[in-house]
This record gives sequence, structure tokens and C-alpha cells, in this order.
Amino acid sequence: MTFQNSSRLYAAVSSLLWPAIFCAGLTGSYFAFQSNMHLLWFNVTYFSIVAIIALFERLMPYEETWLESDGETFNNIAHTLLSKGGVQIAAAIGTSFPMAVATVAQPLLSHKANIWPEQWPMALQVVLGLVIAEFGLYLAHRLAHEYLSLWRFHALHHSVERLWVINTGRFHIIDSLFKIALGQIPLYLLGAPLPVFLWIGAVTAFIGLLTHCNIDVRTGPLDWFLSTPRLHRWHHSKLLAEGNTNYGENLVIWDQILGTYYNPPRPSSTDIGITGKVADSFLAQLVQPFSKKGAKQIIGKKPKEVRDKEELAAAKAASRRKQTEEPIRKSG
Ligand SMILES: [Zn+2]
Ligand SMILES: [Zn+2]
Repeated sequence: MTFQNSSRLYAAVSSLLWPAIFCAGLTGSYFAFQSNMHLLWFNVTYFSIVAIIALFERLMPYEETWLESDGETFNNIAHTLLSKGGVQIAAAIGTSFPMAVATVAQPLLSHKANIWPEQWPMALQVVLGLVIAEFGLYLAHRLAHEYLSLWRFHALHHSVERLWVINTGRFHIIDSLFKIALGQIPLYLLGAPLPVFLWIGAVTAFIGLLTHCNIDVRTGPLDWFLSTPRLHRWHHSKLLAEGNTNYGENLVIWDQILGTYYNPPRPSSTDIGITGKVADSFLAQLVQPFSKKGAKQIIGKKPKEVRDKEELAAAKAASRRKQTEEPIRKSG
């Protein structure tokens, strides 16, 4: 059952849904963090939000064909549990690897330099933390797209041909660790307190679910500064010129500043995926990037834009060689 997308109610729900789900997630997190079992209650909130998003994906999908199974659901969930929940799974609790890392590492690594503005209201500290963490996240993500040695791990996330809530956490464990390191280390060095890490973990979790959801949400001005489904669908495009944009995880300010922001006035791409081939089973996907043969399969045929660029550069180099060789031949 989907509901009529020309109705007024549809337009209103479409515009309100993104902020409503995000606020519901943060409200649940607030109560979770007040309790003495904050990770457990955070996970209850997290899975409730997953269920709400999954319901709206059925009611008002952005792309109907993405509702069909692609056979990757098990792998998506397995990668999510491994990369986001590794530590907590061991304790039989659940999601959110970054939070668990922060809980353990923050007291050990926190730098007592008194740089962090601990006297600021918590909301402002979290915004500051998000902006700082975002630079590391942006850098990690952009490097993963621009260097084949890192792309071989990140390609797993891009290999799906449908976007929906369940592939939010489909990251290779190495890709995840790299991103967590670059995103969190600056905050440890600045001495950010544990609640800031927990709130950043919560914001990242809900924005992540929302950026991958297959709901026809209208995000309007939110697209200017937040990573929304509209922006992230461009990021998953098969076309390199569209895909190598919008690297922001939560905020797109670094895309705006560094010129990788992309949001043309047309519906965002539904032709998503990669040119290479990722292995079929979960374990094979985990080991594939480590072998030469596996990496070659992942990288596949280079995208047309890269081939064109390389051909142009080779032609230019050949003509330069010709020009410099010519006089020598004449004089010889
Ligand atoms: Zn990416
Ligand atoms: Zn994605």
C-alpha cells in the first residue's frame, strides 16, 4: 500500500517526516542518556526508528523498484553488526560501535589541555563537536573515493543498487575504523567530554538511517547544511561526476567550503552502484579487498570519465614527446 503522492497530506508528511524522525531519535536518546543503561536504551530507540523508517518506505517510497529484494539483506545486517556493533555484540547488547569506542577510549585518551569549552551549553558543544568531527569524516570519505587503496574497502558500501534503511550500516570494518579514527581523534585531543561523543554518536546514527532511507521526503533548505537522502542519492550515483560529491556524513559544510557540494534542480539519481563487482557472501566480502585479485574485481572497469581523462593525458604527453623529438631528428 502506498499513498497518493498528489494529495496535500502527502506533501505535508513528506516535508515533516525527516525532522520528525530525527527529533524522535534525539528525544529517545535524551532519555536513554539520562538512564543508567544508556547504551541499551539507545539501542531500543535506534531499532524503533529503523522500524518507523521501514514502515514509511512501504507507504511512500522514493523509488518503487528499491522495495524489491536484492539478496543483500543478510550481508547488510551482518556488516552493520560487525562494523557498528562489534564491541557491544560481544556484550550481547547491540549497535553503535563509535559510542562503545568513545566510552572506553575517552577517559584514557582525553587530553587535559583545557581547550574544550566545557562551560558552553551541551547543545552548543555538540554542534561544535559535529563540525570538528565532520572534517575528519569528510576527509576519510573523500580519500576513500579518490584513492583505489581505500576505495577497495569503501566500494562495498556503494555496491548496492537499491538504497533503503537496512544498508545504512553496510561498511567494511576497515572502512569504518578509518572513518571513526579520523572523526574522533581530533575530539580526544581537544579534550571533549564523554556526553559530546555520545550525542555525536546519536546524531550520526539517526542522520545515517535517514540519508539511506527510501522515503520520498522533501528536505528543502535542510539540503544546504545537512546530509539528506536527496544529497546522498547523488553520492551513490554510478556516474563519477555525481558520485564524487556530497561526502558529508552529518553536515555538508565541508562539501560547501571545499567545492564538492552537488544538488542540481532535478530528482536525485536512482541509477546507483559501482562499475566493479563485490563478492556474494558476507565472509567473501570481508576478505575480498585484501587480495590482489579481489581488489581488481572490486575496482572493475574504470569509469568512463576516468578512462577519458587518462586517454586525454596520454594523447597530450604523446604530442609533447613528438614536439621535443622532432628537432632532434631533424638535426640528426
Ligand atoms: Zn561514499
Ligand atoms: Zn551511503
